[in-house]
Parts: sequence; C-alpha cells; structure tokens
Amino acid sequence: MRKNEIYEVLCLNVTNQGYGVVRIDGQVVFVPGLLKEEKARIKIVKVLKKYAFGKIEELQIVSKDRVEPKCPKASQCGGCCFQHLAYTKQLDIKTEYVRQLFIRNHLDCTIKDTLGMQDPFYYRNKAQFPIQVINDTVYMGFYRPHSNSIVDCDSCVIQSKEINEVYQFIKANMNVKSAKTLRHVLIRSNVQGQVQIVFIGKENHVDALVKKITESFKNVVSILFNKNDREDNVILGDSYRVLYGLESMHQTCMSQKIQLHFKSFFQVNSKQMEVLYLQAIHLANLSKEDRVIDLYSGVGTIGCVIAPYVKKVTGVEIVPEAVENAKKNAQLNQLSNIDFVCEDASIFVQKYKEETDVVFVDPPRKGLSEAGICHITGLHPKRVVYISCNPNTLVRDVKLFEETGYHCKVVQPVDMFCHTNGLECVCLLEK
Ligand code: SAH
Repeated sequence: MRKNEIYEVLCLNVTNQGYGVVRIDGQVVFVPGLLKEEKARIKIVKVLKKYAFGKIEELQIVSKDRVEPKCPKASQCGGCCFQHLAYTKQLDIKTEYVRQLFIRNHLDCTIKDTLGMQDPFYYRNKAQFPIQVINDTVYMGFYRPHSNSIVDCDSCVIQSKEINEVYQFIKANMNVKSAKTLRHVLIRSNVQGQVQIVFIGKENHVDALVKKITESFKNVVSILFNKNDREDNVILGDSYRVLYGLESMHQTCMSQKIQLHFKSFFQVNSKQMEVLYLQAIHLANLSKEDRVIDLYSGVGTIGCVIAPYVKKVTGVEIVPEAVENAKKNAQLNQLSNIDFVCEDASIFVQKYKEETDVVFVDPPRKGLSEAGICHITGLHPKRVVYISCNPNTLVRDVKLFEETGYHCKVVQPVDMFCHTNGLECVCLLEK
C-alpha cells in the first residue's frame, strides 16, 4: 500500500477516536469520519508499519446513523470527532469501548450503559481558544487534529451560549498588536450566565479591549492577564494580574456554592457533573458513620457535596489555589466536618493513619501510581469510588486493586464530553 493510492472500502467498525476501521489486503486502515457499514472511495494519506490512515474522497453508501454536523468546521477542527454520528450511537460506541477494555483485561464487572445528555450541545463551561497572527491576520479558534495550526472558528456548538457571545466579541475586537503578544484566551461561564476571561500571553496589551468588554457585558465578572512566556505547550503561566473583578468566580454543584480560582480544576460539563457525582454517591452507599477521604479533591466539589451525609471528610489536593478555594467552599456551605490538605495524594495516603471507611479518588488522566494504590488499600477502606477521565488508566488501576483484594463490581460511564472522544467513568471497588 502506498500514499495517495485510491481504494473502495467497506467500514467494519468505528474506534473511540471516531476513526472508521477498514481492511485492505489484510492491513488495517483508519479513516476519520467514516461510519460502520458505510462504503467509500478513500485516499491513503499515511502508511505506517502496522497500519495506515486514509481520507474519505467520496461516500458511496451512507449510514442511516449519519447526521449533518451542527458545526460547519466539525470535520476540520480537532474538537469533535463524532458530530456526524447520531448522539445515541455515540453513547453506544463509548459503552462498547469500555466493555471491550474490561473484557480484554479479564475483569469481570458490569459495565452499565453510558449516561448521556438530553440536549448534548452548548454544554461546556470552559474554553481555551488559541490565537495566532499570520501575515497580519488574527486567527482564533481551535487546533486542527495533531497540529499547531488553527482552524479559525467564530463559534463553537459545544461551548455555552455565554462563552460564545463573549468569544465573538473578543474575536471581533482583537487587534493585531494585542493578538501578537497573546497565545490563548480562556473563558469560563457558570450556570447563572456569569463569565470569567483570562488573556494568556507574553505581554498585556488588552486594557482597551477589557474596557470595551466591561462596557458591553454586565455578566463578565472577572478578567485577568496571565503571563506565559514558556516555549512548551503548557497553557497557563505562574504570574497573573487581575484586570477586572476578582480572580475567582462562582460555580454550583448540587446546590453547593463553589468558589473557583481560574487556576483550579472544575468539571467542564456542569449538568453531567451532577449526574456523575450522584452516581458516585449512590455507589459509595454513604452513612452518617463514614469517615471519608476525597483524594485529588480540586476545589472540594465532591467533598462539599458528600459532607452532609457522612461523619467526616478529608480532601487532598496538590494545587494551593484549589485548596484555598476548597477551604473557603466548606465555609460558604457551612460544613464543619470537612478538612483540606495541600499535598501529593500518594504521599498523603502513605502517612495517613486514621480509620477510613470510604475513599473517593478522582485523579488526572494518568491515573494512580502502583504505590498510591498500595497505600490506599493499606488503609483498608470498605469501599473505593474511583472517578476517571481515562478508561485506559482506570482499567490498569482496577487490575491492581483486584490484586490487593478489592473487587470492581460495576462501572458507570457518563458522557461529559458529548461529540468528542472524551469519556468519564465512575466505578465501585469493594473489599
Ligand atoms: N475531584 C475534583 C478534581 C478532580 S481533577 C473535582 O471534582 O472537581 C484532578 C485534581 O487532582 C486536580 O485538581 C489536580 O490539581 C489534582 N492533582 C493532580 N495531581 C495531584 C497529586 N499528585 N496529588 C494531589 N492532587 C493532584
């Protein structure tokens, strides 16, 4: 097989990344955007040792599950790899992916159907728009898949309406001089419709723009400049200056008030976050006698939500700004049975000696370390509720828990990232 060759193919399956899978002379070829049972003429665009990539030239038989993407840039932008597929079928792909992963790893647990959204659009409360200037033209939008070039976008159908409105205003009013010193604009919104804006770059030339924004939008409550002159792809730098309002904004989760510093983590889908945490609480089967640890606690969202149902919660988080927020959030919600510790979670569990009934873990994509799992099980909790945004590291970690006497009974996937390849799961491990 060679680059630029044309083939007529039948699509056998779709991966969790939205790639159609076809076979040509026994070799697997991945074709982004092609759906199961579709026939197409494809062009080979890249040949690797074990597989190749193709591009759709012409669809010959179209799947009944194919829908018109809501976003005109969906096929160019790296954000949504599933907008062309009916939403319920997206959920099926996500469930099946997790099921196969657990089966392949010989883990015998029930994988429930993925819980999706009624209306899977305009759901995100956080967007990071990259900015580039090429030949004195400003480009803003999202990165192309596996690339640093920007697909210029005027709106995004998975971001909240408020983020879209503010983004469009910023894009329309961004001059070349300001844009040249910026790398990203981060915009967050909350369910009350308030907005926070963080301009990220080498130098601050946005004062005039900030004035225009505050004159035009009553719902913008916080604007910051974050200095980042790093050469790598880390988005936020360390130092920052508040240009308007405060450096934090408010979010809500199941009627708890959450103060959120712009550097702190918060789930990007506020509605599905509540679905996810309700599942987590249900699985944890909490009682008033339970002493709970909330590892990777962020701004304390899970801890604050469960505190009223248990005896005591200890949250552990490594980002100091998030811990500050978490302590404040306990006060805001008048919770007296919750503490927060600023420490690496695995170091904390290694030293911790108190009786523990339930452990919640909600780590970043890379999951837990082997030592961390060992120290968690060393506390002998009755139940561990594992919330994961990466099914691959979840499976790896569940296997380790199983080796130390904890059994994974049930995994509940929740679609927090509709139309994209992201997937959140919550699972229960019982002693
Ligand atoms: N449970 C929280 C946050 C989950 S995101 C919520 O529901 O909002 C994961 C969190 O882990 C982030 O806040 C991140 O700052 C934190 N984190 C990353 N590495 C860590 C470590 N080694 N020890 C403790 N916290 C860590």
